[in-house]
Amino acid sequence: MPKRSTDAPGRRRSARAVAAIAGAVAAALALAGCSVAANGDDDDRPVVLTTFTVLQDIAQEVAGEHLRVESITKVGAEIHGYEPTPGDLRRAADADLILDNGLNLEAWFAQFVEGLDVPHVVVSEGVEVMSITEDAYAGLPNPHAWMSPLNVQVYAANMADAFAELDPDNAEAYAANAAAYSDELRAVHDELVAELATLPEAERALVTCEGAFSYLARDAGLTERYIWAVNAEQQATPQQIAGAIEFVRDNDVPAVFCESTVSDKPMQQVVEATDAAFGGTLYVDSLSEPGGPVPTYLELLRHDADTIVQALTGSAG
Ligand SMILES: [Zn+2]
Repeated sequence: MPKRSTDAPGRRRSARAVAAIAGAVAAALALAGCSVAANGDDDDRPVVLTTFTVLQDIAQEVAGEHLRVESITKVGAEIHGYEPTPGDLRRAADADLILDNGLNLEAWFAQFVEGLDVPHVVVSEGVEVMSITEDAYAGLPNPHAWMSPLNVQVYAANMADAFAELDPDNAEAYAANAAAYSDELRAVHDELVAELATLPEAERALVTCEGAFSYLARDAGLTERYIWAVNAEQQATPQQIAGAIEFVRDNDVPAVFCESTVSDKPMQQVVEATDAAFGGTLYVDSLSEPGGPVPTYLELLRHDADTIVQALTGSAG
């Protein structure tokens, strides 16, 4: 799949395209005189749209059976520089609530919702934000706050509040679901920290393509090193690759990783130039298909921790 660049000219093109699509959708809706049922079936529950699959799973946990929760982007999509389709805009116009991560994760979102008369809520509101420390993005918030399960306790509480406003009759159920999920999140956090704590001090370096693991690395006491800060880049410069190679050599890093939504080619260059092995694919910006390795957010966290520990200790064989 071709990767999208979000350099300035690209952003302008993308913004124009979204504006053109929004105009076409508005015209179509005006011609139709009304909106059609969101999904053309008998399901009359309110529809909540999330920007990506990880949020969809978390939101569904909080919603229980009372709301229909769907993701705008599909499994495996690159979400930072995503370009919405006319179909996405039609779905959004028919939704009852839209949830986005915020923290500049969805570069396309402000333009996307500009012409829509649908409420939207930023689910990361209130988390303790970490800043990006390198690259052109230095000083901006690191958007991947969900990689700490304790932050997702905040996400779940925000969702419960938003759902209570949307559907007050089930407000108690949303609060109870969020509380129960919060307990699970705490348990998974404790499990991850304990598992990653088994790594020897000298093997606590986590080298990835994207700088998406800052929150997990902080929780688990790992040193994080990445090729690029945010996946919107996706074109590693020779300097970025050289920097990763130098770090891997200097620290005798046994294994390096890349994420499911980007090409691992740049990291394979690091593998070829050093003694490090390719440790496997980590999931951050998307779940897998239902039959894949990470069909839920909690499984995503466990999969990543298992993959990291096995590769850095060589216990995968
Ligand atoms: Zn990302």
